[in-house]
Amino acid sequence: MARHISNAIYRSAADMDTDVLIVGGGPTGLMLANQLGRRAIRAMIVDRHSGPAQQTRAMAVHARTLEIYSRLGIAERALELGRRGAAANMWSEGKWAARIPLGDIGKSVSPFPFVLMLGQDDNERIMGDHLRNWGMAVQWNTELTGIEQEPGRVTATLKHADGSTRRIQTAYVAGCDGGHSAVRELCGITFPGAAYEHVFFVADTEATGPMVAEELNVYLWREGFHLFFPMRGKDRWRVIGILPRKLRGRDDVTFEELRPDIRREAGANLDFRECSWFSIYRIHHRAAQKFHDRRCFLLGDAAHVHSPMGGQGMNTGLQDAYNLAWKLALVISGKADAALLDTYEQERIPDAQRLLRTTDRAFNLVVSDRWTAGLFRTRILARIAAFAMRFKRVQMLAFRTISQTGIAYRESPLSKMLPGLPDGAPRAGDRFPWLRLRLRANGPVEDVFQKLDDTRYNLIVIGQPAPQGEALGLGELLRIHAIPDDAHNAQELARVRIPRPAFYLLRPDGHVGLAGTRLEPDAVTRYLSERCIRIQGKIPEPARNG
Ligand SMILES: Cc1cc2nc3c(=O)[nH]c(=O)nc-3n(C[C@H](O)[C@H](O)[C@H](O)COP(=O)(O)OP(=O)(O)OC[C@H]3O[C@@H](n4cnc5c(N)ncnc54)[C@H](O)[C@@H]3O)c2cc1C
Repeated sequence: MARHISNAIYRSAADMDTDVLIVGGGPTGLMLANQLGRRAIRAMIVDRHSGPAQQTRAMAVHARTLEIYSRLGIAERALELGRRGAAANMWSEGKWAARIPLGDIGKSVSPFPFVLMLGQDDNERIMGDHLRNWGMAVQWNTELTGIEQEPGRVTATLKHADGSTRRIQTAYVAGCDGGHSAVRELCGITFPGAAYEHVFFVADTEATGPMVAEELNVYLWREGFHLFFPMRGKDRWRVIGILPRKLRGRDDVTFEELRPDIRREAGANLDFRECSWFSIYRIHHRAAQKFHDRRCFLLGDAAHVHSPMGGQGMNTGLQDAYNLAWKLALVISGKADAALLDTYEQERIPDAQRLLRTTDRAFNLVVSDRWTAGLFRTRILARIAAFAMRFKRVQMLAFRTISQTGIAYRESPLSKMLPGLPDGAPRAGDRFPWLRLRLRANGPVEDVFQKLDDTRYNLIVIGQPAPQGEALGLGELLRIHAIPDDAHNAQELARVRIPRPAFYLLRPDGHVGLAGTRLEPDAVTRYLSERCIRIQGKIPEPARNG
């Protein structure tokens, strides 16, 4: 891991206006602000618009996001407002072809084994309201127009609606400012990729018709596809799809012009009573060449944009924020060396690239104009999907991929495997699996995720004595969970192939940092000090290989 010991330890300077300037009050910026706020880090969040966006854009909230919401204390509100997607119905050329159950697929993987249909505007409102808990609020009508990076600080120029400007000093800048990111451009970071030739439409409608209520309805046509997402309220549907070829090349297309095509594919008894929002847009697939330039970071759409296949865009931005927040908090509070921040892009760039590849492949398959693709879409795709989803392994793979619970950082410099764990056991870099264990001898069976403190490291010790916290000298940085030996725990651990003895050191974001069998007395402190964490005020040692 690269070392910057000389200027490594950042001390929160009283002469700075803030520790982190978050540019953009969309979902990514709001998540980062909440995560920093709850860790008592000074942050300022600004947005050039006059208030929250009214359009919904993203619709799907996946399991991993709900797990993060749960730790933040907003999952209940999201579940109250959203609808659980129990199944996807596939329609080919107007005829119902298959129902793919989604509801219970991930029952053993996550406490949230479903896709929650909840619009982006609701997600933003929930996270925006939650900022009050940390005494924060988005500063609207405030646009970032300039950045000057100096050693130890960044001077940012902010422009207000009346044209006035002010310069502020901050330790770090988080560019959560969307696909046209000013932070990315001001840092001179390129954004390679291209636009897809297809044009998407999105419409918020009130409609009745053959659609299966409360479930996702996917209509596959020779020329493309459209989807009906159930929304909150009676007969409310979000319809998204690609414009038929004859309507492409114009930017004044109206929903009225599109209606006959949708009705032709979805059935004559489809009746649209109202359309409250209609928009067409071109999609790009791009990833920034780097996510980090000295003290400035890129997150969310500022760092990567891709097709909406699988509803991953918003969820990926939220994951970026969760990954960066704990690292910034440790560095800013003087508990870690600044080199820890390098691991943000080392972990998130491969994830963004993988997402770009998979959404690109899926998108090309579903939207290709070739006649063979049209045949594949209408005659084969729905049947293959329904058939494959009968197999548990395929279901599990699909759930882990779409829900983002399968994201792992195995190649990260923060991931270290000690010898001895069997194949199939969770590995360093993986999200630690969701388990229900007895955490006290003869105590109740509890949800381990609820017991992990995601503002600290957590050490899970199995089948051997746990060390005393004070002896490790990590103070509040670490929580230790000694798992008692009993029949229930043995069965639950065997389910995820964790042997006895074993130990797992989890990073604050729930990914495994260090994993092994027998816990040696200095294994945890050595791992942490080699990975930029200061133990009782000591400067971390240079990293060793392995
Ligand atoms: C029509 C449409 C449909 C979509 N559907 C889906 C879907 O179904 N599923 C899915 O997962 N994703 C979907 N997406 C993508 C999803 O909306 C984005 O991935 C998500 O909004 C990214 O969030 P963000 O916070 O990174 O960026 P944004 O939501 O773009 O927020 C960026 C914010 O930064 C502000 N800003 C920009 N420049 C500046 C500046 N210089 N100074 C201050 N503030 C600035 C903007 O005003 C904005 O509020 C869709 C996108 C579109 C356009």
